Amino acid sequence: VCPVGALTERDHTNRLIEDLSNPDKIVIVQTAPAVRAALGEEFGLPAGTLVTGKMVYALRELGFNYVFDTDFAADLTIMEEGSEILNRLTRYLNGDRSVRLPILTSCCPAWVNFFEHQFPDMLDIPSTARSPQQMFGSIAKTYWAEKMGIPREKLVVVSIMPCLAKKYECDRDEFKTNGNPDVDYSISTRELARLIKRANIGFTLLPDSEFDNPMGVSTGAGVIFGTTGGVMEAALRSVYEIYTGHPLQNVNFEQVRGLNGVRRATIDLNGFELKVGIAHGLGNARHLLEDIRNGHNKYHVIEIMACPGGCIGGGGQPLHHGNSEVLYARANALYREDAGKPIRKSHDNPYIKTLYEEYLGKPLSEKSEKLLHTHYFNKSID
Ligand code: SF4
Repeated sequence: VCPVGALTERDHTNRLIEDLSNPDKIVIVQTAPAVRAALGEEFGLPAGTLVTGKMVYALRELGFNYVFDTDFAADLTIMEEGSEILNRLTRYLNGDRSVRLPILTSCCPAWVNFFEHQFPDMLDIPSTARSPQQMFGSIAKTYWAEKMGIPREKLVVVSIMPCLAKKYECDRDEFKTNGNPDVDYSISTRELARLIKRANIGFTLLPDSEFDNPMGVSTGAGVIFGTTGGVMEAALRSVYEIYTGHPLQNVNFEQVRGLNGVRRATIDLNGFELKVGIAHGLGNARHLLEDIRNGHNKYHVIEIMACPGGCIGGGGQPLHHGNSEVLYARANALYREDAGKPIRKSHDNPYIKTLYEEYLGKPLSEKSEKLLHTHYFNKSID
C-alpha cells in the first residue's frame, strides 16, 4: 500500500465537469492552504507566488456555486485538537497515569494510514480530531446546508488538495452518512491547473476575488497548516493562551519552523515545560514512533506529516523534484499570508465562535465528537 496514494492517483476532473453542468446540483469547493502557495507554478509564476485571490476567481469562473476555504476548518481543527491536548495534559498533571502521551496530530491521511498498518498497538495515542478536509465536509453538509435549506443529496462538496491521499480519505466509510460522503471527492492542485487551462482561463491576468462566508474566513493559524510545523504552531498559539490565561506577546513560534526532518522545542506554559516534536517524511515518523513503543518518549505533543515539507510538498502539487528551495519558497508564502491576516489565532475566528454558539455548543461536546472526531482501525492484517 502506498500511504500517500501516489500509486493509485485517480483523476476526478470529468466527474467535476459533469457536476458543475448539472442544474440540479449545488457544487461548493474548499481549498487547502498549500494550494495557493504552489498553483501559480503551473502557469509560469515563480515558486512562492501567492495566488489566493486569482485561485478564488478562477474557481468562480469554473462554475462553483460557493468558494470556501479549508483554512476555516483548520481553525476548527485547532479548537478540537487543542482542547484534546489540554484535556490530556491537565489530567496527566493532576496525576492520572492512565492518560496516553504524547498526543499525535491526525490531519494527514497518509500518516493515519501508515500508523493503522504499522503501529496498530498505538491507536489510542493520536488525536481523534478529523482532518480539516473532513471537518469542512461534515459542517458543510449539516450546519451550513441546514442554514441554507439545501438537501444533502443536492449538495456536492469538492476539495482542492495538494494531496493524493485525500482522495482515499473522502472514501473512508466513517466519513459517510447513509453512504453519502461528507466530501464527495478531491481534486489535486495539478488537476485544478489542468481544468483552468482546459477552460481557457488566463490565470495570470485574473483579478483577485474573496472567499464566501462564513466558511471562507480563517486566521493566520489556519493558513500555516500547509507547511511542516504549521499545525503545531497553530495549536501552540491557542493552547498557550487558553492554558495560561495570558495573551501571547509574539504569536510566531520560530522554534518549530524549518525543514529539518525532526525538530524539537520546549515551550514554557507558566512554568510547565511543554515538550513538542515535529517530523515530516514517514521514515522520520517511524523512528519517533519506535522510540515511543520502546518506552523512550521525550514529548507531550508530536506533529507528523507524511510528505517532505508537509502539504506544500504534497503528491498532488506541481512537481518539485525534492528541490528544497521550492519548498522554502512555498512555506514562506504561507508565513507571509499568515503575517498579513488581521486575526492569527484560531480561537479568535469570529465565525468559529458563531459555529459553536449556534450549533456545536463547545469543543469536545457530544455534537462536536459526532461530527468532528473519528476512530482508527487495526489494518496490519491487510
Ligand atoms: Fe497529504 Fe499533506 Fe499528508 Fe502529504 S502531508 S499526504 S499532502 S495531508
